[in-house]
Amino acid sequence: MSHTTLPLSDRLYEYYQAVATRETELLAALREETAKRPDGTIQISPEVGQFFGLLIELMGAQKALEIGVFTGYSGLCIAQALPFDGKLIACEINQDHAKTALRYWREAGLERKIEIHIAPAWETLDTLLENGHANTFDFLFIDADKENLDRYYERCLLLARPGGLIAIDNVLWKGRVADPEDVDLDTQAIRALNEKIHEDARVSLSMIPIGDGLTLARKR
Ligand code: CA
Repeated sequence: MSHTTLPLSDRLYEYYQAVATRETELLAALREETAKRPDGTIQISPEVGQFFGLLIELMGAQKALEIGVFTGYSGLCIAQALPFDGKLIACEINQDHAKTALRYWREAGLERKIEIHIAPAWETLDTLLENGHANTFDFLFIDADKENLDRYYERCLLLARPGGLIAIDNVLWKGRVADPEDVDLDTQAIRALNEKIHEDARVSLSMIPIGDGLTLARKR
């Protein structure tokens, strides 16, 4: 009988990864290269990337949006799951991160499916809205700076088609969201959005304790 989510010990997590994760050599190489960077711990875990692939297949998603590319791991997972004529529009502000991502996307032969915009993401999102992309995206992933989180969420709701899925990373923020003494601005932004989506009748909600916590919000 279980009334809670099973905590994963190191041993159990190792077992889980051994039987659950199907990572290509290229994805493993990207993950290992990224892990060597001082900011390498912010990349998504392989099971999250694989989960996105499954969601995209299940939805038959054709058009995806990613806010916060970093070195390209999640983008690679998303793009490889999209059909041949699928499209991922990817937002990244850091030129250096985008360079690494592009190198791997090229090597995976996925470059043609991905359009990267190197600019503040909210500017790119506004341009998409102005250019008629509202209500067209099937799958949208928010994984960028936390201070603009609410802004990204509201724009994603406009860009998603009815039935489209918005995924938001880091919603459990290494447990910090549950610490009332943690008043860091990023923690507060995540907490505020979690509370807002909890009450948000515009979406169906499932928050999954995978990786650093993943919210799935389906636009009604
Ligand atoms: Ca993240």
